[in-house]
Amino acid sequence: MNTLVLFDIDGTLLNTSGAGRRSFVEALRRVFHFRDGLDDVRFAGATDLDLVEKIARRNGREPTADEVRAFFDLLPVLLRDELRMEPPHVYPGVRELLRALSARPEITLGLVTGNIESCAWAKLEACGIHEHFELGAFGHEHADRREIARLACARAERNGPFAHRVLIGDTPSDVAAARAIGATAVAVATGDYEAAALAAAGAHRVWIDLSDTDAVIAHLQEASASGAASTSRASSNG
Ligand SMILES: [Mg+2]
Repeated sequence: MNTLVLFDIDGTLLNTSGAGRRSFVEALRRVFHFRDGLDDVRFAGATDLDLVEKIARRNGREPTADEVRAFFDLLPVLLRDELRMEPPHVYPGVRELLRALSARPEITLGLVTGNIESCAWAKLEACGIHEHFELGAFGHEHADRREIARLACARAERNGPFAHRVLIGDTPSDVAAARAIGATAVAVATGDYEAAALAAAGAHRVWIDLSDTDAVIAHLQEASASGAASTSRASSNG
């Protein structure tokens, strides 16, 4: 049965060892002249647009549309420089899982990320896992990750709905986004949040990491079958 599997990027697929944060700080300095070190800002689960707006406000103003555009033009340039020096670390099992899911014609892989689109592809290309993803929705499109997830679904389902949706992420925001689109919320504790926090946030399933490819795929198939069963029960009842 056809299934849409959506992935978050940072903390879920890969870790840029601070390259994302460093390029963000430098772009803020060059465009806004803020010298904010962002030491107290939590990037995990946030969207780039939300971060820019919050940081500008705590520096006493709203960002203009021109500033936001300039910031989002500069950010991927700085990020690519950082990633050339130090490519992202891909978490255990991620390459194997993406390869296995890509090989299944009934599965479509997409992105739901807080990164702006150019930064998302820069990170995935830097470690050679970009080709697995057919579509996505990104952090410049909305400040709220739930809306980003809705956009990704709308793009994926232009030619008809998927029987089942899954969203895999590493933060409570990803879990909320999954639930907002009626997806199975799969969480992975490779990012900033521990398994217990992700379970408490409402994840249907929490993995310590994605290294057990067969078990992860078996769970996705199970979730897909039971999701379809509950959908058909709901439609037969109503
Ligand atoms: Mg993440």
